[in-house]
Amino acid sequence: MNYSNMLTVAFEEARTGFDEGGVPVGAALFDCEGRVLGRGRNRRVQDGDPSVHGETDAFRKAGRQTNYRDKILVTTLAPCWYCSGLIRQFNIGTVVVGESVNFSGHLDWLREAGVNVIELNDADCIELMRRFIEQSPHIWFEDIGECDNA
Ligand SMILES: [Zn+2]
Repeated sequence: MNYSNMLTVAFEEARTGFDEGGVPVGAALFDCEGRVLGRGRNRRVQDGDPSVHGETDAFRKAGRQTNYRDKILVTTLAPCWYCSGLIRQFNIGTVVVGESVNFSGHLDWLREAGVNVIELNDADCIELMRRFIEQSPHIWFEDIGECDNA
């Protein structure tokens, strides 16, 4: 499985989100043969909807799947609690994480549940998110549910 190529799909979504002025987190759900089932991005700003994270958007766009154990969720940034809960709820087998530098997420909590977590530590993902947090810290802290004291 070429995880870097799969990350490119998620990164395109993140990049589009950035250009739209949104939180640049993108994701895509793949089947076990590497075919895209759904792709999406955080649209908190674009849609005024805090429930649309990259992961949840890709998950919803993929429609009904009978089994998630053999599916691969690729996301540009380590998943938050909300998305980690989604991964555990539906027993998604593999999660590919573009980066966990700007947000560490809860990867151990996923691993404890038997999720195969693959970290790519991707420089483009790190740089895009770093730029966004620098430009729009208030939106970022709103998105992760933390008060911005700045
Ligand atoms: Zn999330």
